[in-house]
Amino acid sequence: MTHYSALSTEHFKKLKFLGPWRTACQWLSTLLVIIVPFVRIGGDSLLRLDFTTLTLHVAGTVLPIEALWLFLLFCLAMILLFLLVTLAFGRAWCGWACPQTTLVDLVEWCARKIGVKVSAGKLPASTRQRLLLQLLYLFLALLVGTNLVWYFVSPYVFFAQLTGGTLHWAAWVLLGFTAAVVYTDLALLRRLFCKEFCPYGRFQTVLVDPGTLTLRYHPDEAPRCIRCGACVRACPTGIDIRNGYQIECINCGRCLDACREVMARRRQGGIIRYTFGLEGRGVRALLNPRTALVAAALLAVAGILAVAAGERAPLALKVARNATLMPRPADTGQAINFFTLHLVNRERLPQPVLIVATADGFPLELRGPAQPIILEGNEKRRIDIGLVASLGKLPLPATLELQTTDGHLLASEQLLLLAPPAAPTAPD
Ligand code: SF4
Ligand code: SF4
Repeated sequence: MTHYSALSTEHFKKLKFLGPWRTACQWLSTLLVIIVPFVRIGGDSLLRLDFTTLTLHVAGTVLPIEALWLFLLFCLAMILLFLLVTLAFGRAWCGWACPQTTLVDLVEWCARKIGVKVSAGKLPASTRQRLLLQLLYLFLALLVGTNLVWYFVSPYVFFAQLTGGTLHWAAWVLLGFTAAVVYTDLALLRRLFCKEFCPYGRFQTVLVDPGTLTLRYHPDEAPRCIRCGACVRACPTGIDIRNGYQIECINCGRCLDACREVMARRRQGGIIRYTFGLEGRGVRALLNPRTALVAAALLAVAGILAVAAGERAPLALKVARNATLMPRPADTGQAINFFTLHLVNRERLPQPVLIVATADGFPLELRGPAQPIILEGNEKRRIDIGLVASLGKLPLPATLELQTTDGHLLASEQLLLLAPPAAPTAPD
């Protein structure tokens, strides 16, 4: 047990509070959420889900919806990260980084600035103060709604479309719906949302582990408590930490600061502390099978995702026999087979490509668009081609290759060239 009694004056002066660190953390995470859509890597968004092209843009890589398994791996990695952070730090996210807490803290700070006496999350305001608060809720709601849209429509495009009046109706719906939800939350719920409605808070009851970080009022130190109630008054969710761990606790540390301040006046250390687990093993309490298992799973999934995303071919080719055009005679002694190609350029930059067909090591005559074909960045294109071969050699296995203009193989598919169906014989 730590003994805090009889702290020196020097220690008293050096007393540190968590409040400024928590505020810095909240603003940093909020700024990150706002700034991420503006960040570009190689000209592309750091993180954006583009519904018009059905692609996820993440750290310079573009994942099309066809790469569904990569999407799923990405989601699985996010879920495991969420599990691990919750196992280790409990609801520290809620108290230190969650945008909901940051918004409510900001509302309460602004309310105090206009003279409202904030008490236990309630804002008893005059008519003028209420009007000012409503304007603040509206501004914050629109800001959050707009910020969310930027994760689907790049802000560089968003502002151009907004001023040009060409913003897609779906973006307006998303913005309006989000703003309405945030406005309702700020005007009516605020802290009540964290206590009663937040699914993460409910989830935490299942995830809390003997090694999880929590705020603790240690029973051994209870005799030092002077029952001043400062910890309860400081608590934004209105709980009494002296009654032990409660699901409503968002790990914000306000009670810790309040107690530290009260006890410092008595030249003593605070009674409330952050603790990993309840047995005083410190951060070593995190070294338990449950946390290790989730950490190992996260590392494995993140590794597979990184390798799979890194090794994806920059261009994809799929070939199907033309559904409407049957093989037919071409010139004398030759036949033509028709195919439909589906080309995908997974790179952000345009790619000139060649389509080359061979059979038995010899090139086949290919009838189709002029080559090289220029595929724009992230473009998907459908191309119809015909392959000409000697009638006498049919059926003939062939290879279709997608090549760079200097002959480097990008993708290939195997085909079978068929003889035209025999013409019906005229009745005698
Ligand atoms: S008990 Fe302490 S850490 Fe938990 S919500 Fe209340 S003030 Fe924050
Ligand atoms: S602030 Fe500290 S001393 Fe005061 S009631 Fe809470 S735990 Fe006890």
